[in-house]
Amino acid sequence: MINITPILCRAGTMDNYSYLITDKQSNISALIDPSEVGPIVTVCQAKSIKPQYILNTHHHFDHTDGNLELKKLYNCKVVGNEEDKSRIRGLDISLKKGEIFHIGSSQCQIISVDGHTIGHILYYFADSKALFTGDTLFNLCIGGIFEGTPEQMWNSIQKIKSLPEDTLFYPGHEYTLHAAREALYFSQNDKEVQKYLQTAQSRLAQGLPAGPFTLGEEKRCNPYLSAANYEEFLQRLNY
Ligand code: FE
Ligand code: ZN
Repeated sequence: MINITPILCRAGTMDNYSYLITDKQSNISALIDPSEVGPIVTVCQAKSIKPQYILNTHHHFDHTDGNLELKKLYNCKVVGNEEDKSRIRGLDISLKKGEIFHIGSSQCQIISVDGHTIGHILYYFADSKALFTGDTLFNLCIGGIFEGTPEQMWNSIQKIKSLPEDTLFYPGHEYTLHAAREALYFSQNDKEVQKYLQTAQSRLAQGLPAGPFTLGEEKRCNPYLSAANYEEFLQRLNY
């Protein structure tokens, strides 16, 4: 089981979320997608934690920019998809699709989700019911399709939808309010979407992330997950 601390990076511009995770049994910690160094070091110092790993979901700079400096600072290992070997800064440990990686006694499954980039992966901690979705799944929307095809993105979304509904997911950016209008439009102001937004807004007002929400809530409220079929998904992409 892991503890999860979200760390807002690039606040006000890109609104990235990095995450500090700690295996409760061993106290071994890892950083997910260290976007920038400052806010991460502040949190690690306050908690007296020296992370042993950096886990990257994909190669984009706003997810990997802290890799080299944090690696020097904490002497930690950078972990990522073997397909991104040449693109992730300072990569030490290459992962294969479906592989199980361990943070102490916590098991983490590597799920490959091409679309936003080719080589994007998710980190799924089944025991903790936690899924780190990088730039593939956000609250009420999905990541831009930059390197893959819409069909690859659709297949990746179906993989996410097949995970248990009570899984909490942790996205790579805070985009909830930007996505709200679209979600309300496609849901025709469905009550559950309105409730989702109320919860998100009240958490944001307290200085917290909008999430986490469960995959079940997301399947009902996110227009890209609720699309009935591939045709509808394509229509929604062109919204
Ligand atoms: Fe990205
Ligand atoms: Zn990003």
